[in-house]
Amino acid sequence: MRELKIEAIRNGTVIDHITAGTALKVLSILEVDPEATISLAMNVSSRKYGKKDILKIENMELNEDDVDRIALIAPHATINIIRGGEKVKKFKVELPDTIKGIVRCMNPGCISNVSNEPVERVFYVIDKKTPILKCKYCGREMSEFLDYIL
Ligand SMILES: [Zn+2]
Repeated sequence: MRELKIEAIRNGTVIDHITAGTALKVLSILEVDPEATISLAMNVSSRKYGKKDILKIENMELNEDDVDRIALIAPHATINIIRGGEKVKKFKVELPDTIKGIVRCMNPGCISNVSNEPVERVFYVIDKKTPILKCKYCGREMSEFLDYIL
């Protein structure tokens, strides 16, 4: 078995088991300091999923909001928080039952898109695996998010 060799990081976040080929998309929806040192490995062999991507971001610890976003396009991702060279936290991304303020509705006529008053964007997660979201306002179901992530 070939072991992956990426430099270990001392402090920061390692996102592992990203769906192969989507690491750049994951990176694009995270709010990462433009000065941050980032290592990216794509299409790495994975025992579990065949191939996977890995993203390492130095000196940044992801918050829950970031994790929710990742779950939409990389539902198997695991997050490792590294401090002082030690893995202090490891968790899988998991969509909450409700998502607020991260995605906009794909229905252009939806009240959340056309209202003059600011309407909080709310989606119910009706399938956490696929995943599928349902707009609270118009009921539109969505399973493609990349163009709609805010
Ligand atoms: Zn809607």
